[in-house]
Amino acid sequence: MENLNPQQKEAVLAPPGANLVLAGAGSGKTRVLVHRVLRLLAEGLAPNRILAITFTNKAAGEMRERLFASLEEGARGIWVGTFHAVCARILRAEAEAAGLSPGFTIFSRGECLTLVKRCMAAANISEERYPPRSVLDQVGRRKTSPAEDSEPAPFSVDATALKITPAYERALRDVGAVDFDDLLARPLQMFRRHPEVLRKYQERFEEILVDEYQDTNPAQDELVALLSRAHGRVFAVGDDDQGIYGWRGARVENILGFERRFAGARVFRLEENYRSSGAILGLASRIMGGAGARLEKRLFTRKAAGEAVCYLAAANAEEEAEAVIKRLIESGAGGEIPWGEAAVFYRINTQSRALEEAARRRGIPYQVVKGQRFFDRAEVQDLAAYLRLLIRPDDGAAFSRVVNRPPRGLGPERLKAIAREDASGVTTADAEAALNEGRLRGNAAENLRLLLDTLKALTSFRAGPARLIEAILDRTGYRAWVEGAMRGSASVERRRAAARAIEGAQEFVAAARAFEERIQEEEGVSPESDEAKTLFLEELALMGEADELSGESGALSLMTLHAAKGLEFAAVGVVGVQEGLVPLGRSKDDPASLDEERRLLYVGVTRAKKFLCLSWARERRPDGKKESWATRPSRFLEGLGPELIKKVGDHAPAQRRAPRGFDSRRDAGDSRYADILAEAKAAPHQKEKSAPAIPPAALGPFAPGARVKHKKFGLGVIRSREGTGDRTTVSVEFEKAGPRKLVLKYAPLSPADEGVDGGENRAV
Ligand code: ATP
Ligand code: MG
Repeated sequence: MENLNPQQKEAVLAPPGANLVLAGAGSGKTRVLVHRVLRLLAEGLAPNRILAITFTNKAAGEMRERLFASLEEGARGIWVGTFHAVCARILRAEAEAAGLSPGFTIFSRGECLTLVKRCMAAANISEERYPPRSVLDQVGRRKTSPAEDSEPAPFSVDATALKITPAYERALRDVGAVDFDDLLARPLQMFRRHPEVLRKYQERFEEILVDEYQDTNPAQDELVALLSRAHGRVFAVGDDDQGIYGWRGARVENILGFERRFAGARVFRLEENYRSSGAILGLASRIMGGAGARLEKRLFTRKAAGEAVCYLAAANAEEEAEAVIKRLIESGAGGEIPWGEAAVFYRINTQSRALEEAARRRGIPYQVVKGQRFFDRAEVQDLAAYLRLLIRPDDGAAFSRVVNRPPRGLGPERLKAIAREDASGVTTADAEAALNEGRLRGNAAENLRLLLDTLKALTSFRAGPARLIEAILDRTGYRAWVEGAMRGSASVERRRAAARAIEGAQEFVAAARAFEERIQEEEGVSPESDEAKTLFLEELALMGEADELSGESGALSLMTLHAAKGLEFAAVGVVGVQEGLVPLGRSKDDPASLDEERRLLYVGVTRAKKFLCLSWARERRPDGKKESWATRPSRFLEGLGPELIKKVGDHAPAQRRAPRGFDSRRDAGDSRYADILAEAKAAPHQKEKSAPAIPPAALGPFAPGARVKHKKFGLGVIRSREGTGDRTTVSVEFEKAGPRKLVLKYAPLSPADEGVDGGENRAV
């Protein structure tokens, strides 16, 4: 308790009931929450009666570590995790009441995306017009914000989502899987149907603590309200100025309506910021000062003003990256500030490239916290599918995924001979039957027999996930396959992908090992049990972007502004603080989105402790483009004087240079940033209310520069693109087949991904 100021102490000691700590960034909210847990335990509350919900798994891990460090045995049994993890745990325990099989699988986003694409293809819906990612988001939105269900606008993403939902749900059910949004929606359904189950949990959790409450969605808010009803004890902390997930269904109203929802709630304010220098805090306050509706908060620091915040104007993204990294070095990064204490944030993932190059040139160790989550890597999914098969041999999706990886002469055509009519995947039983009935012959049959035998042998192999994965790598021929590709492949690209796959497989084994240690130590679960395998797969599926950040690596961190939430660094750079990126293109038409963009900048700025540098590039060249788009500084920094921000370079809006074929008479607004928008295809603001003639996002995965795969011609890169609608053509340079011109609508093209064949490139 000595480490807390009087306001913080008061919150930590708040009497049982509903309590809300509503306070600005860096004021110690998370610290208060952790202390509250320690306090409850010290007062004798049994650990298993506490439920603490964090925003990322990483934060949960850190909290667990802190609790274990201060209490050792004392914290065993405590429930700490994200909403999704906690819900998964409840669903596992109550599978029957929830109408699920106990070994149900959680589909990662990548797997759900594959499903959505399949459903869209079956319904003849163009992926170009309706980006599958947005469709998937919308399917989820309807599950977690049911009250907002409304008639979708015709031809909207929402209408598409509604249309494919039945097929999508059926496909999930067929393979005994749930998606992320089910994890939240299913417990709510179950609690409504089975009040006795709800009662059990209501009585069990005497106090529920939630961090980052401003980013809860309606389903999460409802869960907290339901679960806390027996004891009425909720301890929530958050900051309405940091709500940045509205586009994903979060509702800032949940924190603002807390007092109404939880009768008799006390609200605590914290006003001292312990994180940032005076200069940084001053700028942050001014940025939020320009926002629309918000709660006014006082925030002060006792720290000195420190170094001025700078705002650099660079000619282009490359110079920008170079300049920001140079400034970080000048401020002490890599010297008195270790690289592990420095970070650069950006709005969309593709912006990392210039930064990576700049870091590489200077030999600076760096880590990119990617939008492509670990689990979505092809090799990780392959190995996870093998592991799933060992738990559930009837998992058709898993079997179909790995049956030809490594290649066994069992491609899609051959599989048709094995599959039952209308089944969504081939199971081991189908394969067995096909062999017995002699429906498959020759090498393919032999290979299939070998695979089935190997799987059988592995199923009876008693070992923890780590050793099992090693065994899978060795005995299924997977390792040999990838290593062979790394050495023998003719294409550099393939060799690189194979090398990455090997790395991914190693990381996967390491993750399994760390997991085994933890569950044994903390939960007393034997790594060799089936439960351990299930829990490991679950943990993987639930891993989020921020979880990839390694604190000990001593490397400069590169990540999106979204991923930076809750973190802090001694020295911070934010690149692309300019119109089109911050705020992101189309959000300017919608005041609510615009405010969210402002909050996003606020979140980024308030991560910095000592040094902060913002920047923008006068010309930005979207991926694979020769032309560049001229732009201007972010409106969020307009009119700020030199006492708040030190401008470096030429900040006058750059002359727009119209690229070839660009109609300069058109409104400079959206189309000017068409490409930046196309890159951010999964981005928040595609509400599609009034779709413009060519929604920029519709360039989708087939924008120039994109890597694609053609059924017949193989891998290639899109060089250019012409026409609109059904007449759109693309010129593709294929690795093997050379240049071809194709009509997009009819060409069997799909995005080619990183890794062996997985990969995504999201805005957040
Ligand atoms: P955010 O809104 O960004 O999540 P927060 O309100 O959760 O921030 P914390 O991360 O808990 O803030 O705290 C910010 C920093 O201030 C941390 O480094 C924390 O250790 C430190 N801190 C918090 N309270 C105190 C205190 N009373 N004395 C010294 N340092 C403190
Ligand atoms: Mg916090």
